[in-house]
Amino acid sequence: MENRIHNFSAGPAVLPVEVLKEIQQDLLNYKGKGMSVMEMSHRSKDYQAIFEDTKNAVKRVFSLGDNFEVLFLGGGASTQFLMTALNFCPENKVANYINTGTWATKAYQEAEKIGKKAHLAATSEDENFSYIPKQFNLSDNPAFLHITSNNTIYGTQFKQFPDVPEGVPLFCDMSSDIVSKPIDVNKFALIYAGAQKNIGPAGATLVLIRKDMVEKLEKGLATMMSYSTHIKKDSMHNTPPTFIVYIIGLVMKWIESKGGLESIAKLNEEKAAYIYDCIDESNGYYKGTVAKEDRSLMNITFRLPSEELEAQFIKEAAGKGFSGLKGHRSVGGCRASTYNALPIEATKELSEFMKEFKKNNPA
Ligand SMILES: *Cc1c(COP(=O)(O)O)cnc(C)c1O
Repeated sequence: MENRIHNFSAGPAVLPVEVLKEIQQDLLNYKGKGMSVMEMSHRSKDYQAIFEDTKNAVKRVFSLGDNFEVLFLGGGASTQFLMTALNFCPENKVANYINTGTWATKAYQEAEKIGKKAHLAATSEDENFSYIPKQFNLSDNPAFLHITSNNTIYGTQFKQFPDVPEGVPLFCDMSSDIVSKPIDVNKFALIYAGAQKNIGPAGATLVLIRKDMVEKLEKGLATMMSYSTHIKKDSMHNTPPTFIVYIIGLVMKWIESKGGLESIAKLNEEKAAYIYDCIDESNGYYKGTVAKEDRSLMNITFRLPSEELEAQFIKEAAGKGFSGLKGHRSVGGCRASTYNALPIEATKELSEFMKEFKKNNPA
């Protein structure tokens, strides 16, 4: 019917068909308004209603109280590496990081780059980022501890978030596992996520800031780099990514229609199990690249017996309608990203293909 393939891309990534259809249906004339959402002024009453609707849907899905600010910003998750350090690390304090791979490294380096004191509280670089450190050592005078909940490139995921001492704010880059499972939001002082992995198309970044953090914000920063600006103007200091915010709202409502985060999490576990079981039962033909206990339920990384077989695997898979299985260019191998919107049939069928491929191509 729609001729859609199984899209295992790490991001931008698969979106729910139901959401795409709703966008399509309302594309030319949004609910009788005579124009598309993307043609509306962000100051108009109609768009303001959409914006509020998305914010409320985000709050419901996260079970957020009124103690969080909900922002939609431009610049991607990468701009948050800069903004977190710039806004929340005064001169007499130290920005703390747990380094679990590429994106976490970039966040740490960004703090250093803008002249902040930065400290690695823990790192798994010694084992090529194949595990999640379970312990960490904070510096004196920590401004915050920053973690990356899911490591999109290496395929690891925090199963338990670090317990920070009272008074130390925990910041989290949740770009690639946001809304994939229920979490205790109140553990975090700040959460951010680029939309393009699990909640929408590229172009918006969701930022949740606990309200008690507002008094800690650095003052006198450049307008667009200051969270104060965006909080005061409710993300409307300048034109926000209007169409993306609308789609994030649709994705949030889709999550609710599936029974919320509990149900989504259960489904994500079942989905990932098809592939991890296949890896574990392959007598070493497929090799997972990370510690079992830290395996990501969103980005499943694995190797084949040789690079030649990996190339052949990816090519044959593409021919059968499985796309996006090539590992990140920095690490090689294979990666199957299994975000919320990927149907369970996709991982079931991929596991069948993997078994077939192994049979036909002995090591
Ligand atoms: C993709 C990704 C980023 C980068 O996001 P941009 O929106 O492209 O800046 C940062 N962190 C994580 C964990 C990611 O997966």
